[in-house]
Amino acid sequence: MKNKKNHESIWANCLKVIKDNVSLQSFKTWFEPIKPIRFKSDVLTLQVPSHFFYEWLEEHYIDLLKKVIKKEIGPDAKLEYSIVLDRNTSSKKAPYTVNLPTSNKKSLSNSPVTMPLNVSENQIKNPFIIPGLKKVNVESNLNPTYTFDNFVEGDCNRLARSAAFAVANKPGGTAFNPLLLYGGVGLGKTHLAHAIGIGVKNNFPNKIVLYVNAEVFTRQFIDSIKNHTTNDFINFYKLMDVLIIDDVQFFAGKEKTQDAFFHIFNHLHQTGKQIVLTSDKAPVDMKGVEQRLLSRFKWGLSADLQAPGLETRIAILKKKIYGNGIEISEEVLEYLAYGINTNVREMEGALTSIIAQATLNKKAITLELAKKMIDKYVKVSAREVSMDYIHKIVCDYFNLPIELLKSKTRKREVVQARQIAMFFAKKMTKWSLASIGAQCGGKDHATVLHACRTVNNLSETDKQFRGYLEDLEKKLNVN
Ligand code: ADP
Ligand code: MG
Repeated sequence: MKNKKNHESIWANCLKVIKDNVSLQSFKTWFEPIKPIRFKSDVLTLQVPSHFFYEWLEEHYIDLLKKVIKKEIGPDAKLEYSIVLDRNTSSKKAPYTVNLPTSNKKSLSNSPVTMPLNVSENQIKNPFIIPGLKKVNVESNLNPTYTFDNFVEGDCNRLARSAAFAVANKPGGTAFNPLLLYGGVGLGKTHLAHAIGIGVKNNFPNKIVLYVNAEVFTRQFIDSIKNHTTNDFINFYKLMDVLIIDDVQFFAGKEKTQDAFFHIFNHLHQTGKQIVLTSDKAPVDMKGVEQRLLSRFKWGLSADLQAPGLETRIAILKKKIYGNGIEISEEVLEYLAYGINTNVREMEGALTSIIAQATLNKKAITLELAKKMIDKYVKVSAREVSMDYIHKIVCDYFNLPIELLKSKTRKREVVQARQIAMFFAKKMTKWSLASIGAQCGGKDHATVLHACRTVNNLSETDKQFRGYLEDLEKKLNVN
């Protein structure tokens, strides 16, 4: 019976059990890339893509692996890893393969230890890391204000932030290598990239960290070609313990630069150094970037940054003014956060100019001032009042919780507030009747139409009601 088993069938059976015991995400990340390559005298050899991969499995899944493999093979089962250290696209075989019996630590058997790594004669020698050279003083180019402490965590950035934090605490020693942070403009990629660098510097002062923008990297590379110093350029980058390259989408279409980067990337990755990249696009959308690079980006983790929600935006603004000795009312902050909802940089820009304006003119920071400044920051097309803002102003005015407005309740005072909110939404936004209804208690377009008529009628016949509308209109008006 036993003889019939081969590595593939054994591993396939193991995978079935593993799949039921880990999350789908983990399964895809950690188990799908494993290749069974051999089964001989109770030893199952699994090929894993990198050293980190092996470490991660050992750290997180060894118990599970042990169980399933013993169950499949029997009590004498042993597990061996074969680590591919170079997955270059060239047809050469991987330069060396390391067999690591797990028996030294959390072992499957009690057989003697055969560590350390058996490295074949093909091991890449590195002529550049000369003792002493390591002490080279590299200016890291880090912006000291972009720390983790100054970065507000929200649902929009949780994965990216925690991966970045993990990397800062264990550069090169997590599965997140490379760590690719991607997302739209002004959402905090550069901030997080610096935070990693600063974190590493704090935790490991001797590590050589370099932050560089892809554009600068490209320029340096082109200069090095002109000056015939390309080797120096590449060797310099190979010295890094942590290399952070911002905005790698800039490499698109620049084949020579990509070549140089590819070379550096492989070297750093193979020697366990950390690579951090940012991009304004997900890897799948990066046109003009070579496939072999893109596939390397996938070795680690790609984490995206989304636009922050309202609460996170308010928290970011508060963080920015905290400690500056400036007082800005909650009302103004909320106005800013409501008004600019896609891009943190724009929101910050508006905040800075409000502060500057107020300081210059020795004026208090009022809502009026905020409104004026925001106009300058938000593009005309996007300058319509947001639905959230209308809901908030109307609810504040009538002293109702926003949830009620959005609920299906038919309490009289809520119905009226809801109708007014719909009326203003129709008047001041480009939303369709159907979406206005959907966002306001899940009503249909006919209800919104009816609301608009009712509000119009009442404003003609009811003086008090007209007063409400005028107050609200003033509050809502951005112009
Ligand atoms: P990106 O590189 O994604 O275009 P940046 O990192 O330059 O964006 O961020 C733009 C500005 O917004 C920076 O000043 C940054 O500090 C700030 N910012 C973005 N997200 C956050 C956040 N979650 N917490 C604090 N500040 C943030
Ligand atoms: Mg940036």
